[in-house]
Amino acid sequence: MTRSQQPRLPLLPDEVGEEYRRAFDAGATIGHVHGRRPDGVPTQDLETFRAYAAAIRARCPIIQQFSTGGAVGMAVEERIAALSLRPDMATLTLGTCNFGDDVFENSLPTIRTILERIRSFGIAPELEIFDDGMLGTADVLFAKGLLAPPVHFDFVLGVPGAAAATPENLLHFARSIPNGCTWTVAGIGRRQTAMATLAIAMGGHVRVGFEDNIWYRKGELADSNVRFVERVVRIAREVGREPASIGEARALLRLPAVAA
Ligand code: ZN
Repeated sequence: MTRSQQPRLPLLPDEVGEEYRRAFDAGATIGHVHGRRPDGVPTQDLETFRAYAAAIRARCPIIQQFSTGGAVGMAVEERIAALSLRPDMATLTLGTCNFGDDVFENSLPTIRTILERIRSFGIAPELEIFDDGMLGTADVLFAKGLLAPPVHFDFVLGVPGAAAATPENLLHFARSIPNGCTWTVAGIGRRQTAMATLAIAMGGHVRVGFEDNIWYRKGELADSNVRFVERVVRIAREVGREPASIGEARALLRLPAVAA
């Protein structure tokens, strides 16, 4: 995502901190973090993440989850450079897939390198599942003892080149993970709200925001990530589910009661 596509994309630490605080105030409990230089170019640079993490922490207790995906084409060492900051959580994508015209590369050696780093810093992983084969890789990691359930999954549905954002795929993915594991869905583009609504009805959890979708509705750019949080909170309340408090979210995710 760039400013030319979405002029309200936060870039500087204070802008990022404010966006997370407003998302937290609206009901978000996890903040998924990607780094960007002041000119908007994606970076996984340690100092960028240090500044972002501090700006967020100074404003709200949202659970900080660093991306280790970075941007397509980044070397693995760059993708994990900021994990030494010991965020609450970090993502771990369990396989390679096409990503539009690009390839999002996550070979088994890459997965093992990222997982090793996540474990060495005592960070809770979020397993990113873009297609069915990645569920099989999760089973391999469980069988080898490299990961022990329960863990948290994120089903990313609707990336061009990976699993489509359909009810059938969401149901299949949600049924395919070990008992006791928790999950969110991240629906891409125009499917974001529909997939979030399904997940809420199914008892799952949701991810919304600019990484996956910049349009509030057809033809109308969202003026903030917060609009998406507000919308899923309204939907959740209409079906009788209340957004988790930070304490409830930390318990659901099996995180320590307070951030380290
Ligand atoms: Zn991400």
